[in-house]
Amino acid sequence: MPRPNRFTNVVRFGPVQVGTHYDGRGRTKHTAVCTAPRCNFSGDYDERPAAELAARTHRCNP
Ligand SMILES: [Zn+2]
Repeated sequence: MPRPNRFTNVVRFGPVQVGTHYDGRGRTKHTAVCTAPRCNFSGDYDERPAAELAARTHRCNP
């Protein structure tokens, strides 16, 4: 998982945080990560709206 301190423009949707970071190859990536305990959801997206949509629609597994 990328280091959180490299994320910028972090916003939270419920338990899910969306942040923007550089992938080290000159491209911007957008990552959604769920911070709930025992939830391993995370995803990388090329577009910020896609990451935010994934965050808003995420439901933790019980
Ligand atoms: Zn979750």
